[in-house]
Amino acid sequence: MLNIILFGPPGAGKGTQSEMLMKRYNLNYISTGEVLREEIRKQTPLGMKAKAIIESGGLVDDEIIVQIMGNFMRNVNKAEGFLFDGFPRTYVQAYILDGLLNRIQTSLTRIFILDVPDEVCMERLLQRAGKQNRADDNEQVIGRRLEEYRHKTLPLLDFYESSGILTRISGLGTTDEVFARIDQQMAVEISRRRTNLILFGYPGSGRATQAALLAKELHLTVISTGGLLHEERLSGSATGRELSRYLENGLLVPDEIVIRLIEKKLEQESANNRGYIFKGYPRTLVQAYILDGLLRKQRTSITAVVNLDVPQLELVRRLDARSRTEAKMPYDSSAATIVNRLEEHQVRTLPVLDYYAGQVPVVEANGTGSPAEVFQNLVSPVKKAMLGLK
Ligand code: AMP
Repeated sequence: MLNIILFGPPGAGKGTQSEMLMKRYNLNYISTGEVLREEIRKQTPLGMKAKAIIESGGLVDDEIIVQIMGNFMRNVNKAEGFLFDGFPRTYVQAYILDGLLNRIQTSLTRIFILDVPDEVCMERLLQRAGKQNRADDNEQVIGRRLEEYRHKTLPLLDFYESSGILTRISGLGTTDEVFARIDQQMAVEISRRRTNLILFGYPGSGRATQAALLAKELHLTVISTGGLLHEERLSGSATGRELSRYLENGLLVPDEIVIRLIEKKLEQESANNRGYIFKGYPRTLVQAYILDGLLRKQRTSITAVVNLDVPQLELVRRLDARSRTEAKMPYDSSAATIVNRLEEHQVRTLPVLDYYAGQVPVVEANGTGSPAEVFQNLVSPVKKAMLGLK
């Protein structure tokens, strides 16, 4: 996840820059100030409590802010990350944010501090007063807000000082100039982030081939559960011997065994790794939950899903052709097994795609054509999804 705070004094341009960031990136956005203004407009009890404080330029109680943030975090759906604008604003709120992110097993990626001198903030906010009609944009209240920022908000940076996640950015110049500076830093963060893809598709859709091509292009490691099982079996270990019973009888290997193998593989690869492409896993909803848990343990998650789309008749043609080559798998041997595998995918694996579709970008790729053509179709949408771009 990419969890960003836009930090800076009132008038630094956080709202404007957030808007620009949200046009480009797929993040969950919250401006506590905006939420409070909305509560005031709707005259809710919470809004009524906050109104006088906001109009005097003070900071609203942490208690109210916790409620707002709790509601927000419960209702988010995008897995890419968060953009916080106007929160945290106190040392206490920095702890609150830490707790909220911890609960969903993630943490703050970076804080962009927009540096703008007080005089410029004052000037900008007085200009805005004419346009937006905000009750707190007059000279006296702006003065108080800047003071609150200095006394209560700036000290919270101490909370993060040792973590090395503070980046100062000049907030002077046009909005486009400032955005270009922020965007450049966003690119740096994204390039540091691990990427984990799942390559979905019916048997015969070309997953193994495309996984290998994508892995090469993106410097990722392919994790194929079929491959892991095969290796373990050849190793002659106790688990390997246990596996043989299942594989030789064409039975599904129990999740307990597969989990251990994936866990071991992830541990081996975890240092020095930019991420994974999962192929042949997860195949069931249970396995999707397991994979999410395994990745969470490494403080990472699925970035995007690729779905290779090939018409059913073409799949049958491909699987049948494969059954007559050297590369054939034991399960390619008859029309009945081919049909069983396609059906198994439809019934058990398609729900996994739905499960992820609500959380991460899904790249639908046309899987017909030569491997090179298919790769050409999918590589740029995959890269876009990796960058969290809209
Ligand atoms: P903003 O839209 O971020 O400039 O916020 C406008 C006003 O809302 C602030 O001056 C505060 O009174 C209140 N406010 C917004 N966010 C917070 C917060 N995280 N903690 C306390 N007060 C806040």
